[in-house]
Amino acid sequence: MGRAARVLVVGSGVAGLVAAGRLADSGLAVTVVDKGRGVGGRLATRRVGAARLDHGAQFFTVRDGRLARRVEQWLVDGVAREWCRGFHQPPDGHPRYVGATGMTDLAKDLARGLEVRLSTRLVGIRRGAGGWLAEAAEGATLEAEAVVLSAPVPQGLALLGPALPPTATDALREVRYSPTLALLAVLDRPSAVPPPGGVRLEGPGPLSFVADNHAKGISAVPALTVHASDRTSLEGWDLPDAEVITALSRAARPWLGDQEPAEAQLARWRYATPVALHPERCLVAVDGDRPVVFAGDAFGEARVEGAYLSGLAAAGAVLDRITPS
Ligand SMILES: Cc1cc2nc3c(=O)[nH]c(=O)nc-3n(C[C@H](O)[C@H](O)[C@H](O)COP(=O)(O)OP(=O)(O)OC[C@H]3O[C@@H](n4cnc5c(N)ncnc54)[C@H](O)[C@@H]3O)c2cc1C
Repeated sequence: MGRAARVLVVGSGVAGLVAAGRLADSGLAVTVVDKGRGVGGRLATRRVGAARLDHGAQFFTVRDGRLARRVEQWLVDGVAREWCRGFHQPPDGHPRYVGATGMTDLAKDLARGLEVRLSTRLVGIRRGAGGWLAEAAEGATLEAEAVVLSAPVPQGLALLGPALPPTATDALREVRYSPTLALLAVLDRPSAVPPPGGVRLEGPGPLSFVADNHAKGISAVPALTVHASDRTSLEGWDLPDAEVITALSRAARPWLGDQEPAEAQLARWRYATPVALHPERCLVAVDGDRPVVFAGDAFGEARVEGAYLSGLAAAGAVLDRITPS
């Protein structure tokens, strides 16, 4: 019996993990690498003192049957639960789901049984004798016959550089993201965020979303996640953390409940939201039996569900090109 083809998946966010799971289920040998210390990418949950806060994606919605089936299982297994059916009054009735103890629960479940190498930041991917050679900052080299790149597109482009044909490079350069600054504020007393514990803010103001992680059910103590609007995030990106924390605390005052945060941290998402997307669910950047496929929420739909469906599409594109032995 021959050796199973080895696929390297860059990124352990939703897209990378879903692609890896599908490829592994099809009999391919898959390695996932991520520069982070944990899986999840923009599904991110952080402890601050006694508090637990989601600081990337706050919830997810489901339209497609393939994700719906997975969510049904997550609900049975206690991996996910419904948070609410809308943030305005009256609610729109569409379920918003969350990880049972934080959004990273979803990624941890998707990663079960997979070979995932964390704290491994790739610095370059080039052609090698058997396909592709990926070099990690820590010095290790990984060999692969196929690559799924689910890092935010500019980071993926930087890894491959001249190895990509110009048509792929041109299409990928069209993809653009906006950043998000996120304030994580631990409180001594209950917040003033009304039920169900999330406020979506539209319009030209400084904030886009405020979530009470205690009301959401993941934090033992009151703790707010405050997302700055695209404009505020862009304008404040180069300011020092302390200055941004002060400005966002001021902007969040109506929801703090007449108190200053007992503890505050800043999270920075440089590639938070794709604002110019690639129209297809994935992009086969290098075709043939040694393919490189780009995936992620910049392909089709800028949300958790979009990343999920992109991961499936990328796995399909790889399976069409290389065969498990
Ligand atoms: C502030 C914020 C709020 C959001 N709110 C919502 C929401 O409420 N609902 C919703 O549906 N979506 C929301 N989203 C979007 C959602 O989080 C994303 O659509 C989804 O998580 C993207 O998954 P992904 O796999 O495409 O990318 P990512 O999760 O970004 O995964 C990419 C991974 O690649 C890794 N990586 C990058 N470069 C390298 C390298 N050189 N070497 C190794 N690894 C590398 C990164 O560490 C990362 O883990 C939000 C996002 C943010 C940032």
